[in-house]
Amino acid sequence: AKSEGRNVYRFFEPGMDAMVRARRALETDLEAALPRREFELDFQPIMNIASSEIVGAEALMRWRSPIRGLVPPDDFIPVAEEIGLIVPLGEWALRKACTVAAGWPRGLRIAVNVSAVQIKSGTFARSVISALAFSGVPADRLELEITETVLMDESDTVLKTLRQLRNLGIRIALDDFGTGYSSLGYLRRFPVDKIKIDRSFIRDIDNRDTAAIVRTVIGLGAQLGITVTAEGVETEAQLEFLRKESCVEAQGYLIGVPSKATDIQRLLKASVAL
Ligand code: C2E
Ligand code: CA
Ligand code: CA
Ligand code: CA
Repeated sequence: AKSEGRNVYRFFEPGMDAMVRARRALETDLEAALPRREFELDFQPIMNIASSEIVGAEALMRWRSPIRGLVPPDDFIPVAEEIGLIVPLGEWALRKACTVAAGWPRGLRIAVNVSAVQIKSGTFARSVISALAFSGVPADRLELEITETVLMDESDTVLKTLRQLRNLGIRIALDDFGTGYSSLGYLRRFPVDKIKIDRSFIRDIDNRDTAAIVRTVIGLGAQLGITVTAEGVETEAQLEFLRKESCVEAQGYLIGVPSKATDIQRLLKASVAL
């Protein structure tokens, strides 16, 4: 298991020593990065397919380290989760994302990724409410993106927290849908407003079987009254397929790449003026 990994290979494989030291250094740099304000958020637009209108954007975290350069989230979020840094870091991201979105035209939504560790921390609902109050963003403009790992938790904490947030009007999106083990079970047990079809399915949509799966997930969403968003849309052909199948929303390089707050602000204003 992940949590015991570090110490185990240290004892049995002396050759791994360099790896352990590198990992320690990464942890130390990460801890220091938050007070040094080295984290940034980019924003990627999300489009309603039927109307071709931008309906909001997802905040994506980056670490601009003076030593390591620009570090992608997949390289540091898992470490931040293991050392508990994700709680203050996630709080920062929520606050920052909401503050940026407060300047967007009315009605546009902000989606923020949330780690399982944050939700289990027990202080999560409070920090969401505080980010909304601080920024003045109404709850119904905030979307929280969670993955199945969040829902695998057996305790009541997760369910209670999600219900509490949803009662405030916040939307819950199930991210990377289709990549986990029992997605369908979770849809029954947890309050979910949106599912985001993982981009691995969209990339492979030329494949007959993959197309059938995507079609089925879109239909499932429609039947359950859940918004379906396709991730990783890169080509017109993919968007055409999704439009034909009545998928509600699309996100991906074709619609827009993750961009700085100022650039996304311009895009959103232009899209509303259209
Ligand atoms: P995700 O939530 O599934 O985010 C979508 C990822 O796909 C982003 O990668 C985005 O840049 C990339 N992407 C978007 N459109 C396309 C496309 O058309 N083609 C391709 N090939 N890729 C596309 P990114 O920014 O590197 O983020 C990776 C993951 O890191 C995210 O996956 C999310 O799980 C995590 N992450 C990012 N920001 C945060 C955060 O603030 N908190 C937490 N807990 N996790 C975060
Ligand atoms: Ca996401
Ligand atoms: Ca995703
Ligand atoms: Ca992902």
